[in-house]
Amino acid sequence: MRYSKYFIPTVKEVPADADIPSHQLMVRAGLMRRLSSGTYDYLPLGLRCLQKVMNIVREEMNRAGALEIVVPIIQPVELWERSGRVIDYGENLFHLKDRHGKEMVLVPTAEEVFTTLASEEIKSYKQMPINLYQIQYKFRDEFRPRFGVLRSREFIMKDAYTFDIDADNLHKSYMNMHQAYCRIFKRCGIEYVIVEAESGEIGGSGSHQFTVPCDSGEDTIVYFEDGSRAWNLEKAPVDPVPKENAKKVGPPEEVYTPQIGTIENVCNFLNCKPQDLVKTLVFTADKEVIVAIVRGDHELNQEKLTQAVGGKHLELAEPAVIEKVTDAKVGFAGPIGIAERVSAVFIDHSVAAMAVCIAGANKTDHHIKNVVPGRDFPLEGKNIKVLDIRYAHPSDTFEGRKLMFKKGIEVGQIFKLWTKYSEKLGAKFVDEKGEEKFCLMGCYGIGINRIVASAIENGHDENGIIWPISIAPFEVIISSIGQEEKIVSETAEKIYQQLIDKGIEVLLDDRDIRSGVKFNDADLIGIPVRVTVGKKSVAEGNVEIKLRREKKSSLVTIDSAADKVCAIVKELKEKLKV
Ligand code: ATP
Ligand code: MG
Repeated sequence: MRYSKYFIPTVKEVPADADIPSHQLMVRAGLMRRLSSGTYDYLPLGLRCLQKVMNIVREEMNRAGALEIVVPIIQPVELWERSGRVIDYGENLFHLKDRHGKEMVLVPTAEEVFTTLASEEIKSYKQMPINLYQIQYKFRDEFRPRFGVLRSREFIMKDAYTFDIDADNLHKSYMNMHQAYCRIFKRCGIEYVIVEAESGEIGGSGSHQFTVPCDSGEDTIVYFEDGSRAWNLEKAPVDPVPKENAKKVGPPEEVYTPQIGTIENVCNFLNCKPQDLVKTLVFTADKEVIVAIVRGDHELNQEKLTQAVGGKHLELAEPAVIEKVTDAKVGFAGPIGIAERVSAVFIDHSVAAMAVCIAGANKTDHHIKNVVPGRDFPLEGKNIKVLDIRYAHPSDTFEGRKLMFKKGIEVGQIFKLWTKYSEKLGAKFVDEKGEEKFCLMGCYGIGINRIVASAIENGHDENGIIWPISIAPFEVIISSIGQEEKIVSETAEKIYQQLIDKGIEVLLDDRDIRSGVKFNDADLIGIPVRVTVGKKSVAEGNVEIKLRREKKSSLVTIDSAADKVCAIVKELKEKLKV
């Protein structure tokens, strides 16, 4: 490809709305342009990168035995009502109406459609296992699209769905995809950590995320220092804190705290610390009202609470509900006597370990001091559970080992769905004994655009992008410097043709512009290998070869240049082979 005939609109200025390197560089290097909030045009270079990633994903899916299909982006809302996910996805789901007034949604993920297809087509155990996938646009009306294509409203996802006859086979399918994912990320040249995850809104139990460690990531990876285990923050378990020594504590004492509802204000008013308080949070779990109690300095982990309520849809209760169950305005809920008024009470370990605490009084404008867990409110009972429902913290341990924390970008996630969708959408089969059963499902997603952006997050310097060769838009760039001299342009052209003949993806910078601009653009767009054809070295029979990730360059003879470049490209590719 000749640069002069290509479309690479690079820019010097950092875009005002771009906070992180990948977003800045994807715009500056002319890979993409923003159309509207969370939607982007992909220009030729950007599209080449996406296509490279898609090719790797497709090859590995096919290798794993998955079969590519494609299903509609516009889907009837009824399917989503049947699975119960209109509520779970909430405002992230794009709704639209057709001209006949029929309600449709734009697909954020496709469990409903794939399960419906299976319900119609799979009848017998003999048709399984089956693994179907697509590489297709997804739409999510993200509350705050940000970080360029890391959190956009339109993105390309590879989503796969497996159907199996029993738990053993589901596990086999899951591990097969787990392995395929490792191969994909290795081949894309991105560093990743496999973290144990909660299944979140997708449902079912058993899930792993593939996360790229990176400071601009929105996720938190919690891990053992030796790397033997890692979790996402939602899943990360903690050891119960040791029980505090019992103290001699007088009877509970009500204190007047006028309009003082928040932890911070209560601390200032009563001159105490957040860890002396407990927070009592009222939720609705589908149709039930439940309560969660955590220490004042801890944060409730809604994913852990969701698991505790058996996957029911949790929402913080409306003020009217809170006022009804606590007999008080919002801000004064407390643990004493609450178990009789709600369906279930979940108490974090660290609350049960407190010798004494300050809590809301279930009375407007009042708190209670000298509250002893176990004495003044029960820690056992038919609707009471003490368990881990908070986020891990750097001071926590698990199994006695220190927990470490770092930021990351989730690029892929795999789930065992069990029968969550097959039951709701009727995906049944007849087994070997003639019995009717529900298919056991798994689902597996990868964000194509996020892989490209993550590669840039971890592969750039102050001058621009440094691509892994497998997903770089071109493998080699030839910078022809001073090409008004025939000997320069002819040498550049010769090496260009030789490289094309050898199957190398090469961009020839044949523009009539200053050498400085050529070098800057080459660095900005980050092509892994640069060949500089300049007047002086050509006169001496040489050209210069430089790797984007290295500072030094080397001179090679014009005649050996193409072979040398091929060897370098081969070596770079070799490192990403699996
Ligand atoms: P997140 O927690 O970051 O919102 P998710 O867990 O909801 O993502 P999944 O439903 O697991 O995402 O989707 C599979 C993959 O799709 C993710 O691992 C990610 O790579 C990609 N993805 C999800 N949402 C977006 C988005 N808004 N923009 C770009 N890629 C996305
Ligand atoms: Mg996910």
